[in-house]
Amino acid sequence: DRVLSGEATDAEEQFELSLRPQRLVQYIGQDKVKENLKIFIEAAKLRQESLDHVLLYGPPGLGKTTLAIVIANEMNVNVKMTSGPAIERPGDLAAILSSLEAGDVLFIDEIHRLPRAIEEVLYSAMEDFCLDIVVGKGPEARSIRLELPPFTLVGATTRAGALSAPLRDRFGVLARLEYYDEQSLAEIVIRSGELFGVALNEQAAYEIARRARGTPRIANRLLKRVRDYAQVLADGVVSHNLAKQALELLQVDPRGLDHIDHKLMQSMIERFGGGPVGLDALAASIGEERITIEDVYEPFLLQIGFIQRTPRGRIATNLCYDHFGYPPAQKE
Ligand code: ATP
Repeated sequence: DRVLSGEATDAEEQFELSLRPQRLVQYIGQDKVKENLKIFIEAAKLRQESLDHVLLYGPPGLGKTTLAIVIANEMNVNVKMTSGPAIERPGDLAAILSSLEAGDVLFIDEIHRLPRAIEEVLYSAMEDFCLDIVVGKGPEARSIRLELPPFTLVGATTRAGALSAPLRDRFGVLARLEYYDEQSLAEIVIRSGELFGVALNEQAAYEIARRARGTPRIANRLLKRVRDYAQVLADGVVSHNLAKQALELLQVDPRGLDHIDHKLMQSMIERFGGGPVGLDALAASIGEERITIEDVYEPFLLQIGFIQRTPRGRIATNLCYDHFGYPPAQKE
């Protein structure tokens, strides 16, 4: 398992549960999204209506699931959680929807992976709070209409572009979660440290934050690993030096890059002269799938300005040359 992956491992679920903020005030960072949501939530409560459907999009581990739970808590309603691939037949969706109470939040993770036939059933549920489902087969088949209580669908996706336009249009609120800045991540690390009972100074929190790739899930995971080192090597106290040492042992460099990023960037620089290089050639050179590079490795490298996308392919920037100790490329 990659220590810097934004995806959660199965074993992490329980651990993450204990760290999840429950209310908007505990949800650190993402100020623009929070401000908007706060207003929409208050307005819906004043009108005693359910909140508009919300689409949350952004890379994994930035807090989409957490925000869905926070929304439900702020609205004082229950939340039911499912995911696109888990809903296989219209009947699955009907079962979930008909179990909701008025105002409840239904959270669908990876909503871009909903089968198209289910998506179509969802349209009328979102728009008119009713479900038209076909029961029976052949000449016996008939459509029945099921009235639903008003509910709020919170959809989450890492790829807003993969959502069909009719589905996207049915969300009243679109919120894009951004990578977190260092200060917000340090606050998250300090909060998690308190919940864990880890003695941690501010410099250590910043050291972890800097290497966490803008992602709370990674920050919490690094904190957990650093805590292990501290327990074995330093009676549980996380000093700045200890944090640095532990992160080096984990092979996470000061910009939050690991051996996979190194391999990718080195290939771009050494084999392709820094680019422009097409995704397919790059993928072949390091033995990875094109989509893995596009979805998993590249977004953070683009975000920190190590890679640029050009019409002719990807290029490695001077910032990247410098970080890996190469003399600057001449082409920028
Ligand atoms: P995925 O879709 O991959 O599951 P996600 O975007 O839904 O990812 P979450 O599971 O909500 O991510 O968040 C991951 C962890 O990061 C949670 O355990 C939560 O404690 C922490 N976290 C996320 N956002 C925040 C935040 N704004 N403040 C504090 N902690 C946060």
